[in-house]
Amino acid sequence: MAITKIGIIGLGKITEDQHLPVIARNPAFELAAVTSQRGVKVEGVPTFRTPAQMYEAVPELDAVAICTPPQVRHAIAREALAAGKHVMLEKPPTATVSELDDLTRDAAARGRVLFTTWHSQYNAAVIHARRLLEGETVKRLMITWKEDVRRWHPGQKWIWTAGGFGVFDPGINALSIVTEIMPEPLFVAAADLTFPSNCDAPIAASLRFRTAKTAEGLGAEFDWRQTGPQTWEIEIETAAGAQLKLANGGGRLEVNGVLDVERTPHEYEDIYDRFAELLRDGRSLVDAAPLRLVADAFMVGRHLTTEPFHD
Ligand code: NAP
Repeated sequence: MAITKIGIIGLGKITEDQHLPVIARNPAFELAAVTSQRGVKVEGVPTFRTPAQMYEAVPELDAVAICTPPQVRHAIAREALAAGKHVMLEKPPTATVSELDDLTRDAAARGRVLFTTWHSQYNAAVIHARRLLEGETVKRLMITWKEDVRRWHPGQKWIWTAGGFGVFDPGINALSIVTEIMPEPLFVAAADLTFPSNCDAPIAASLRFRTAKTAEGLGAEFDWRQTGPQTWEIEIETAAGAQLKLANGGGRLEVNGVLDVERTPHEYEDIYDRFAELLRDGRSLVDAAPLRLVADAFMVGRHLTTEPFHD
């Protein structure tokens, strides 16, 4: 088995929580270098302040995982592709749809693998829900994604700036599940986006969807102001009368009120296994659908203002 020498760019929360331990356990990868603007060190691995320094000092690097905030990913990914590296992108892959199109074209032109990771899709319950919904008509869809921003994103200033996605940072995880399991495309029919008066990204969003077959009963409620129990649920009813409920962010599926699938998540283990397959096959995997829905919500959405937010 060829071992991929991989570098990580951006040593923040998700790198510490998932990428570092998961790479360490996966024999298909060897962490060969990291880039950290702040100079955060990983034991036994050289750290560089910029990707350019990393590429120059470690030319044998095959691939990079880009784990920075989304606003800066396009330029960093372009630089990595130009240096001949395969690229894994944390979600959301870029700040705009056009940037992702550009990376897709550039990776293809250079014969490099580009992989957009949507970690919530890597759940047994989600994969099973997709199978159950194949060929069905969805007549009701309700996404409820409500969490406490102070608990999950303390001090992350980028998330409140333009292009930081605000409540769509978690909300896009729900959209990545729905775009994966829905038997037909969803369109954003209307959206209310609620911005704190001192922020450039929304703290809450209420979306109404339609499909080519269903105009009513499809929606999403994203809210970052929920304290106490956190809610990451998707309820679906088909025209044939089946009721599906995905709970725990896609970790658990109930069908007609009965538990069908529940598995301890190992999303990032599966993401790295998929990346190894893609590298072996020399194939890119780019899924723009969740990003497009967020972009569409910003395009058709009404902007509402609420009280200022202070971390
Ligand atoms: P974070 O803790 O703020 O870490 C991001 C890191 O990127 C920073 O620590 C910094 O690391 C680097 N960085 C910041 N600004 C940069 C810039 N302008 N240019 C280059 N690098 C910069 O954020 P995070 O929670 O890890 O999230 C990063 C991405 O992963 C987001 O897109 C998020 O949606 C996704 N994600 C997060 C989670 C989660 O649970 N937190 C889960 C899944 C996916 P250095 O100083 O080391 O360079």
